[in-house]
Amino acid sequence: MKVGIFSNSGQASTQVSNALRSKIKAVGLKLDDDRPDIVITVGGDGTLLSAFHHYESQLDSVRFVGIHTGHLGFYTDWRDYEVDQLVDSLVHDNGQSVSYPLLDIQIDYTNGVHEQLLALNESTIKKVTGTMLANVYIKDQLFELFRGDGLCVSTPTGSTAYNKSTGGAVISSELDVVQVSEIASINNRVFRTLGSPIIISPNESVRVEPVHSKENLMTCDQKVIGNRAIRSMSFKIATQRIAFAQYRHTQFWKRVSESFIGVKPLD
Ligand code: NAP
Ligand code: MN
Repeated sequence: MKVGIFSNSGQASTQVSNALRSKIKAVGLKLDDDRPDIVITVGGDGTLLSAFHHYESQLDSVRFVGIHTGHLGFYTDWRDYEVDQLVDSLVHDNGQSVSYPLLDIQIDYTNGVHEQLLALNESTIKKVTGTMLANVYIKDQLFELFRGDGLCVSTPTGSTAYNKSTGGAVISSELDVVQVSEIASINNRVFRTLGSPIIISPNESVRVEPVHSKENLMTCDQKVIGNRAIRSMSFKIATQRIAFAQYRHTQFWKRVSESFIGVKPLD
């Protein structure tokens, strides 16, 4: 089995990844950052997001494991002091994994260029200056004319990130759905949007067509794509998924409770 290590540049993470490298070599496992079977990320959820995009073309063969050197992470359920335990799990690995849905994003730019992206957390389309005006279609049917800062389209595991700040629901990671939430919509006697988040099924898609294609900003996880005139963006559940090596199981709702409420729930 080949192990890749993807670390952020912080001091704590560098120390942990150095220790990890020597322990992995000591037990006779191979280190290979180019074509790994397992990618261990060291840092926070942001580091895991970067690692996901780095290994995006190898999702069929790669499983991820996240070590967090900061506060409690959503994708990173191993602590920095558990390196020995993790190396032991690698030695006894029997391919166990759990996978989560990803977001498929199809973008058409006004210059005719088409682009496909994958997101682990979410994609947003926003207008930084002034109000974003966009026609929103569900399954090719016009749903609403949106006015506001923007829209956030998230995966279940991304529902605890940006989506949550916009008032979206936290979605169980066992569901294959996509959630669309509004970012500061304008609602008054003249302008009306639904005003609440919506959740679409795996065979539905949402398309957003900005009325003015310029000055929109698009994000895909931590990446920002600006200065490109967008004609339309389509969102649906991706056919690909992200796999994690499941050496132990931290229950999703326990993680939510511990991260946001701070109490240790009863098992
Ligand atoms: P960041 O500014 O460090 O991320 C913001 C926070 O979101 C960090 O505390 C990060 O954890 C946490 N986070 C990331 N994914 C999460 C998840 N699935 N569930 C719960 N918390 C999560 O930037 P970043 O680390 O590059 O992460 C990019 C993400 O930031 C985007 O995908 C978006 O979800 C989020 N974001 C949120 C807002 C907002 O809430 N208003 C605005 C912009 C972006 P770590 O500290 O462990 O990295
Ligand atoms: Mn971060």
